[in-house]
Amino acid sequence: MKARDVRCHVVRHELSEPFGFSQWWYDARELCLVEVTTDEGITGWGEGYGPARVIRAAVEHFFAPLLIGRDVEDPPAVWRALYERSSDYGRKGIMLSAISALDIALWDIKAKAAGEPVWRLLSDSDDVPGRIPAYATGMYFVKRDDLPAILAEEAAGYVEEGFGGLKMKIGLGREADVANVDAVRERIGPEPLLMVDANHAYGADEAIAMAHRLEPYGITWFEEPVSPDDLDGYRRVRRDAPMPVAGGECEFTRYGFGPLLREGCVDIAQPDPCAAGGISELRHIAALAEERGVPVLLHTWGSAVALAVALHLNAGMLTGRRAPDLGFPRPWIELDRTENPFRDRLLLQPIALERGTLSVPQGPGLGIEVDRQMVEAHEVT
Ligand code: MG
Repeated sequence: MKARDVRCHVVRHELSEPFGFSQWWYDARELCLVEVTTDEGITGWGEGYGPARVIRAAVEHFFAPLLIGRDVEDPPAVWRALYERSSDYGRKGIMLSAISALDIALWDIKAKAAGEPVWRLLSDSDDVPGRIPAYATGMYFVKRDDLPAILAEEAAGYVEEGFGGLKMKIGLGREADVANVDAVRERIGPEPLLMVDANHAYGADEAIAMAHRLEPYGITWFEEPVSPDDLDGYRRVRRDAPMPVAGGECEFTRYGFGPLLREGCVDIAQPDPCAAGGISELRHIAALAEERGVPVLLHTWGSAVALAVALHLNAGMLTGRRAPDLGFPRPWIELDRTENPFRDRLLLQPIALERGTLSVPQGPGLGIEVDRQMVEAHEVT
C-alpha cells in the first residue's frame, strides 16, 4: 500500500476573548491537520503541534514529496526515512511536528487497513479501559480586573463538571502566582488535585523558592519550572522542590528525552505525540521512561485528532502499570478547556466527555470521522 496524496488543512478560529500564559497571548486557535490518502483509497488523519502554517510548509515542501509513492504499511520504517532525510536541519521543532502529523496519519491508515483501533495495535493486554479520566487544563490569564477571583470561579466550574484534577498557569511572578493559587485552592477546597504550570517562566533558584511558597496548597506537580534547555536547573528544582516536577512538552524524540530521563530531571515526562515524533516515536519515549520508573502523562493541546491520539496511546500503552504512584490516576488525560471549536466540533461524532472522563474510540484506525464541512468553513491559506 503506497501513499498517493498528502494534503494539509490549516484551520483558524478567532477567540472571543484573548488569553495568555507566561510566554505569550493567544487571540486565535490555528492548527494544522494532515490528511494522507493511499492507492487503496484509505485516508488517515494526523495533526502537528506548533505554528500551523510553518508545519504546513514543512509537510508540503519537504516531506510530502518523500512520502508520495512510498510504501506506508510500516509507519516506524517511514518515520526513520523521514527523520534521517531531514536530520541535518531537523531533529527537533517544526520538522518533528511535521513528521509527527504524518506518522499519526500512517498509524490511522495501518489500523484502518487491519480493521482495528490504533490502541489495539499498541497494546500487549486485553485489559484496556473504555473510558479514561481527564484533568482540566485552564486558568489561563485574561486582561480583566481581579484575576484571582476569575480563576477561582473558572476552577470551581471544572470541579462541578466532575474533574478530579485541575491545572492552572503560573509564571507572573511570585506574589501574583501565590495570590492566584491561593484563590483557586480556597475556592475548590482540599480534595481536587491541583497542578501548576510555569511554562519555563523561572530560573532554578526562583522556581525552588516558588515551589516552597506553593507547598501549603497541596500541589500535585510543578510543570516546566525552568527552560527546557536547562537540564541542570531541572535537576536542582527536582532535588529541592517539595512536590514532583513535570516537563517535556518542548522536547522531541527518544534522543531528546534520553538526557532528560537519564539525568533525573523530571518525575513525570510529558511528550506531545503531535510534536515529539508521533505514535512511532512515543513508543520509544515511553520505553525509556518505563526503564527509569517515570510516568508518562502526555501533553495534549489541539484538535479532536490530537485528543484521539492521546486516548489511543493511553488506552494501549500508557496505563502506568510499571510507574510509581504519585497520587494521581493512571492513565490520565490532559484536557484543555479553553475556547476551541476544533476540539469540540471537528468530528461528526464528538469524543464524549462525561463527569471528567473521555470515551476511548473503538472504531478502526483513530476511530474518528472528521467533519469536512467544519474544516472547509475554517480553512485558511
Ligand atoms: Mg504545560
